[in-house]
Amino acid sequence: MTTPPPKLTPMLEQYVRAKSEHPDALLFFRLGDFYEMFFEDAEIAAPILDVTLTSRSKKDDVPIPMCGVPHFAVQAYIAKLLAAGKKVALCEQMQDPATVKGLVERAVVRVVTPGTVTEEESLDPKVPNFLAAAQLDGAGGTIAAVDLSTGEVRLVPLSDHRAIADELARLAPREVLAPQDATELITAIEVALPGVLLNRIPPIQFTPDGAETWLRSRGADPTAFSGLGALSAVLWYLGQTHRAGLEHLRLPEVQGRADRLHLDQATRRNLELLSTLRGERRGSLLWVLDHTLTPMGGRLLRQWILAPLTQAAGIGARLDAVESLRDQPTWRHSLEAELRGVGDLERLNGRLAAARVTPRDITGLAATLRRVGELRRALLSTTAPLLQQVAAELDPMDDVVADIERTMADDPPLNAHGGGLVRAGLDAQVDELRQLSSHGKQFISQIEIDERQRTGITSLKVRFNNVFGYYIEVTKPNLHLVPDDFRRKQTTANAERFVTPKLEEYEAKVVGAEERVRALEYEIFSRIVVEVATHQLRLGRTANALAQFDVLRSLATVAEQRQYIRPVLTHERHVAIRDGRHPVVEAMAGRAGFVPNDCVLDPSGPQILTVTGPNMAGKSTYLRQVAILTLMAQMGGFVPAASAEIGIVDRLFTRVGASDNLAGGESTFMVEMKETAEILSNLTPRSLVILDEIGRGTSTFDGISIAWAVAEFLHEAVTRPLVLFATHYHELTDLARLHERIANCSVAVREWKGEVVFLRRIVEGPASQSYGIQVARLAGVPDPVIARAKQILRNLEADELNAAGKPRLAQTEEAPATAQLSLFGGDTRLREELAEIDVDQMTPIEALTRLHALVVMARKGR
Ligand code: ADP
Ligand code: MG
Repeated sequence: MTTPPPKLTPMLEQYVRAKSEHPDALLFFRLGDFYEMFFEDAEIAAPILDVTLTSRSKKDDVPIPMCGVPHFAVQAYIAKLLAAGKKVALCEQMQDPATVKGLVERAVVRVVTPGTVTEEESLDPKVPNFLAAAQLDGAGGTIAAVDLSTGEVRLVPLSDHRAIADELARLAPREVLAPQDATELITAIEVALPGVLLNRIPPIQFTPDGAETWLRSRGADPTAFSGLGALSAVLWYLGQTHRAGLEHLRLPEVQGRADRLHLDQATRRNLELLSTLRGERRGSLLWVLDHTLTPMGGRLLRQWILAPLTQAAGIGARLDAVESLRDQPTWRHSLEAELRGVGDLERLNGRLAAARVTPRDITGLAATLRRVGELRRALLSTTAPLLQQVAAELDPMDDVVADIERTMADDPPLNAHGGGLVRAGLDAQVDELRQLSSHGKQFISQIEIDERQRTGITSLKVRFNNVFGYYIEVTKPNLHLVPDDFRRKQTTANAERFVTPKLEEYEAKVVGAEERVRALEYEIFSRIVVEVATHQLRLGRTANALAQFDVLRSLATVAEQRQYIRPVLTHERHVAIRDGRHPVVEAMAGRAGFVPNDCVLDPSGPQILTVTGPNMAGKSTYLRQVAILTLMAQMGGFVPAASAEIGIVDRLFTRVGASDNLAGGESTFMVEMKETAEILSNLTPRSLVILDEIGRGTSTFDGISIAWAVAEFLHEAVTRPLVLFATHYHELTDLARLHERIANCSVAVREWKGEVVFLRRIVEGPASQSYGIQVARLAGVPDPVIARAKQILRNLEADELNAAGKPRLAQTEEAPATAQLSLFGGDTRLREELAEIDVDQMTPIEALTRLHALVVMARKGR
């Protein structure tokens, strides 16, 4: 903060004190109808909020920057700041300014942060809002993640900081907590989640005690969980910031990585699961699959896409449910009609905990629960066990609904303080006060009629304002007609305002009654809120069941509309897809515009399939198609194919060559190699590996060599990963000559009437290498050039095989070519030169110059 000027007003002193307790948040300081920000906070916030930065100064003082926002619109402004990764501390007036002389007491009542916000303005209905904490020590690491807006709590045990960063990237939390001394972890998180709000927390908050106490208070056994430190940190942070109920938090769901198909960050990005590489939703897998009707379903579908299952039983249960929903469209449509009217129960639950519900939330809840009852009844007839389970978990909470409907008016206002909330006939006192106020109002309009008659002033009006309530207004020309019992209250430009004893008497009745009835209604409403809030666990379970049902029926809808089939999942390590289609490319091109393709992979061969073909032939699409179909199947969804037998995989790796990629910052080739390293060192017994043009980001010889060695490594790996390998390096097709489990295929192209026609059809065998020359000819490159190119190509091809008929590329050092000259064996001069060097006596420049000379000498000797 900029140094404040030496003398501050008492109010600004109060501000500075509050701010000093929340140095990392923007302090919203309540001043009457506004929240004001001062000093650096104002300078930071004004441009984000698009409000004017002004300054407050007395004559000789240094001006103090300030800006403000009206209190009634504060949520929208807070949402903007949270979106920009800021925190906001709300400093409220703790006393009524009307009753206090001098400075009003103020205190920070809440710190709103991106990961702890529950207001709808700051939440995307289709995206979870996680606050996550990560911890790593000798014994291993854990991520604890809480979605306060829905009550979801997750624990994910992980082994190292890379895995933690990777899992965090998948969770995509809005805010992260890490121990402030965990520098390596913090760096990994910063790389994985650029721009996320990262809080460095005192390590002491990462001791398990807090979480243990919380678990015990919920009747759970803390010893059933491990790695509770991270959860402690989250709970502590919520206590610091949110300062409202956490009753709706569910018991932690522990997500072992073993029961989920693991997708690293590069794979999620490359397969364009939630958004395309350009960041758009259209063109992603989610875009094709999302037919959800509720925000809860939308959020769960994302989770299913990012974490498919690895156990045949769980997948089978989902497939059964999808199948029965697909096969009974009429039934499904009737269920959908009920689902459409369902509100966001999960997030409502979150607001209930924070006691930030509106009267409409409560009546909406009753309406939703009625639909839940209907759904439950309609689902009971199902035979699919997973749907039966969903039905069993749907809790219509009839008791609560009855209570709400008995209490609340049909169409209550949003504001809980303005009256009109309670149903007529519920409470005798409310009814009586309402009568009184409405009769009083009638009587007051009668006064207007009476006084007009009595005074003969036809333009006389009874009016109301907030300053002095009801008054009689008489325009200037009629003032001589005003009787003696009118008491003057105010003079305006054209009229004078009066009151009479009778008017005052009724005003007291009306206003008093109105105030009392509002207070009473608010009280009744609050009671209902408290009662509903005691059922948060029930609500949470119901919300979860609704989400599951929504996702299953969304998958059934796509299956029906796009003619997907039920995949057969096995624990064999085998892939056999017949007439598979890429769901997204098909959705873009239309069913007729897509050419289906087969794929067979097996650890006994072909374990590795090399896919060649010219640019734009369809290699990348084919590769991704196999990966995406596997993923869809393991989500429990149907797949676009004529038939699909898929051996369950536990890791799916996708690596796309650098020039296809728009990675920023680091050299793209470096990124490519890091990801390749990641794949090679993390192969599991059930991996599927997609390598699309690796080695592209460097020189041709480098690239071919690396790609070749990688392919060999994968071929020899004991785990025998299944691999699809697309390359435009024709040289790599020679791999199949040498390795029994590597096979070649290519994407067929034809020349027709002088044009290249892409057939999009995968065929056995390598692509013709001369395709580039054909294209050059079609493009009009002169015949002599074409002829010469063909000649050179033949030379190159001839040279590819060595005397033994092996591809030259494949030569290993055990069988060196005879002509190779040994550096030191044949050249004693070089050795002598080296021996003479006294490194201690040289400057770096001299050393470099000398080294250069040696290199030149060595090359000449070659
Ligand atoms: P490559 O990786 O060989 O350069 P891509 O896989 O990127 O080629 O495909 C190029 C274009 O061809 C894509 O835009 C895609 O829309 C289209 N395409 C690919 N495969 C098919 C197919 N099987 N059916 C129809 N269109 C396809
Ligand atoms: Mg490609």
